[in-house]
Amino acid sequence: MALTIGIPRETESGETRVALIPKIADRMLKSVDGLEILVESGAGERAFHSDRSFEDAGCQIVDRDTVFGADLIAKVAPPSDDEIAAMHEGQVIAGFLSPLDRPSLARALADRGVTSLSMELVPRISRAQKMDALSAMSSLGGYRATILAADRLPKFFPLLTTAAGTIRPAQVLVLGAGVAGLQAIATAKRLGAKVFGYDIRDATREEIESLGAKFVELELDMGDQEDEGGYAKELQKEKQERQPELLQPHIADADVVISTALIPGRPAPLLIREEAVEAMKPGSVIIDLAAPNGGNCAYTEAGETVVEHDVSVIGPTNLPADMPVHASQLYAKTITSLIEEFVEDGAFTPDFDDEIFDGACLTHDGEVHNERVRGMLSQEA
Ligand code: NAD
Repeated sequence: MALTIGIPRETESGETRVALIPKIADRMLKSVDGLEILVESGAGERAFHSDRSFEDAGCQIVDRDTVFGADLIAKVAPPSDDEIAAMHEGQVIAGFLSPLDRPSLARALADRGVTSLSMELVPRISRAQKMDALSAMSSLGGYRATILAADRLPKFFPLLTTAAGTIRPAQVLVLGAGVAGLQAIATAKRLGAKVFGYDIRDATREEIESLGAKFVELELDMGDQEDEGGYAKELQKEKQERQPELLQPHIADADVVISTALIPGRPAPLLIREEAVEAMKPGSVIIDLAAPNGGNCAYTEAGETVVEHDVSVIGPTNLPADMPVHASQLYAKTITSLIEEFVEDGAFTPDFDDEIFDGACLTHDGEVHNERVRGMLSQEA
């Protein structure tokens, strides 16, 4: 019997991406024996992939119920309650599942008897780089954030010398120099801005400087702020309080602030207080990529643009969805790489001895497999 993979049309508001694109489906069908790919009619529409192009790649176009009957469902956004209800015991789902932000979803998937693989939990080891959907999407987000800022700013980004006078380059400050922050820095540099970057992890200084930006140093004794997974550790309370105060003069000097600071599973750190926004020049722009986790700026509202003290504070929640073509292409590559790793003899085969499977598996056999999520659930209870 063939292994069936179902690709539903995403239903979350504002979602334009699709979990698989025709080109990658074609490659997958040729390289994996006994595979059938069922695509819901219209699934690729908002990413500019027609049903016809999926059919040409060898996929079958089907209705929603048929997609949810597949052995393995590949999705972008976390499943809705209706989608979970449409699944049955023993099925597999892979996608973004917000394990640390919405542990209750893990409970619901476990109760349904579904095996789930969370793209957020794929370990960041070199063997899993091609499955790193978080990095792929953060990269798109960082690029788009800078473009959004340049569009909104009532100024040029680059230095211009014209007969009518000289224009000084815009100053861009990027807070948090992970994948999104570094891409925002690189994009702002290409647009000609004077760029500054700040992070609490030691390793970022070199990365920021290698992009031609200046590293902002605060008088805070940081120590080692990196955990074994490469993520930042939450600052001690006293440092958390000092940070926004020390950042304020740097924020005041910037025309654009792009903030991306996050600690996995924690509310976003507050870096830009009301006073700091008030001290910025009129017309300045803040793009807060931490908006879905509460924001790095006191004025941020997720999904909204707020204007305070003549400063625009924009809190985007899904910038990759603004670029569905490349977002779907990169996402499809990461999710199919993860799936293919565990397809053996035409069947999806869980392998808990494999650190990628063990790390990415959120639920299996009616249980929440991930220890951290289990801990969060028992605390809630
Ligand atoms: P993230 O989205 O979790 O956080 C964004 C940035 O915010 C991080 O750089 C973090 O240090 C920073 N931050 C947190 N609190 C802060 C504060 N109070 N002030 C300022 N900055 C703060 O991070 P990410 O983009 O997912 O990347 C996390 C790490 O994982 C990075 O070290 C990255 O290089 C690493 N990584 C490794 C691989 C791999 O090896 N395959 C792939 C991708 C990323």
